[in-house]
Amino acid sequence: MEQIYIDYVYKLFEFLHSHPELGMEEHETSAFLAAELEDCGFQVIRNVGGKTGVIGILDSGRPGKTVALRADMDALPYVIDGENVARHTCGHDSHSAMVMTAARMLAERGIPCGRLKIIFQPAEETLAGSKSIIDSGLADDVDEMMGLHIRPKEELGFGQASPAVYHGASSRADIIVRGRSAHGARPQQGINAVEAAVAIVNAVNMIRVDPRVSHSVKVTRFFGGGKAVNIIPDKAEISFDMRAQSNQVMAELKEKLRSCAALAAGANGAEAEIHISEGVPAAEFDGGMVEDLRLVIGEVLGNENVMPPIVSPGGEDFHFYIQKLPHCKTAFLGLGSDAAPGLHHQDMCFNHKAMEYGAEILAGAVRKRLEG
Ligand SMILES: [Zn+2]
Ligand SMILES: [Zn+2]
Repeated sequence: MEQIYIDYVYKLFEFLHSHPELGMEEHETSAFLAAELEDCGFQVIRNVGGKTGVIGILDSGRPGKTVALRADMDALPYVIDGENVARHTCGHDSHSAMVMTAARMLAERGIPCGRLKIIFQPAEETLAGSKSIIDSGLADDVDEMMGLHIRPKEELGFGQASPAVYHGASSRADIIVRGRSAHGARPQQGINAVEAAVAIVNAVNMIRVDPRVSHSVKVTRFFGGGKAVNIIPDKAEISFDMRAQSNQVMAELKEKLRSCAALAAGANGAEAEIHISEGVPAAEFDGGMVEDLRLVIGEVLGNENVMPPIVSPGGEDFHFYIQKLPHCKTAFLGLGSDAAPGLHHQDMCFNHKAMEYGAEILAGAVRKRLEG
C-alpha cells in the first residue's frame, strides 16, 4: 500500500480512537467520516434512518452491480475509576478507519464499473444498528456487502486473515409462569408456579436437534416465590439463552422451546407466557465472494497466511443484511491483529499495522467484485 494511504489510515484511527461514542450517539464519529467521504468525491447521506448512520455513494457511471463495504462505529460503556466512559475495545474504530481508507483508495483510483456504497453503521453492540440502516431503505439496492472484524489473538495471529467468520445465531426466551397461590398446608388448592417452572427447565433440557450443528439452550435466570416460605407460589420467571450455528437449527430450537414450555406448564395446571426474542441470525456467505476474498488475502499477505473459515460463538448484527435485504449477498473478513487480552476487555490492544493490511484487502476485494 502506498505511504500516503498508510499515513491516512493511522490519521483516521487516531481521531476515531480518541472520540469513542456509544451506539446511536456516534455524532462526532459520523460527522468526521461523512466529511472524509465527501472530501474524496462520494455523494454522502447523513443521519441515515434518523440515526447516526452515514452512507457514501460512488458511481462509476458504467452499468454494473452495487457493492458495499460496511463498518461499525460504536464503542462500549465502562465504569472506570467511578466514571462512566466509552471505550473502543471491540476495534470498531479500526474497522471504520480501514473501510474509509479503502473508500479513498477506490475513489482516487476509480472503480471499473457499477457503484460502491460505503456504510458507516451505528450501534453494532446493541444489535440495533444494522436494522436502522436496513429500515431506511437506503441499502435496498446493495447486491453484495462485505464486513470485517479484527480477531482475538487466540483465533488469528497478526499477519493472517480468514475470508469467512461464521458467527452463530443467538436468541433468548423469557417465560412468566403463572399458577395459583394457596396455603402451604393445603397445596392441593393451589398451582405451584415454581414446580411448573422446574418442569419447563427439565423439558427444555430434553430438546433434541441435529447434533452435527453446534447449538445450546440452557436456563440462565430463575426467579420464583415470595418472602413467605409457607405459601404456594403463583408466579415464576425463567430465561433461556439459545445459540446455534445455523438459522435452521435456531428456528427449530425456538419452535421446540415454545411448545415444550407450554406443554410442561400445562401438565402442571399452570400457564406459561412465552416471549422469544428475534435475536441475531447466523452467518450465511456467498461462495463466490468468499473465494475472491481468499484470493485477495493471498495477494496481500501471502497464501501461507490465508486461514480457514472461523467458527465464532459470538453474534454480529451484520447478518441481518442478508436476512432482510432483497438481494444482498455477503462475505466477512476476519483480520488477524493479535487483539488481546480479549475483545471487550477494557484494556484491549491490537497490532495497528493490521489496519494497513485490512484496508488493502478490502479495496482489492471490492475491485475484484466490480471487475466481474
Ligand atoms: Zn463487540
Ligand atoms: Zn465488534
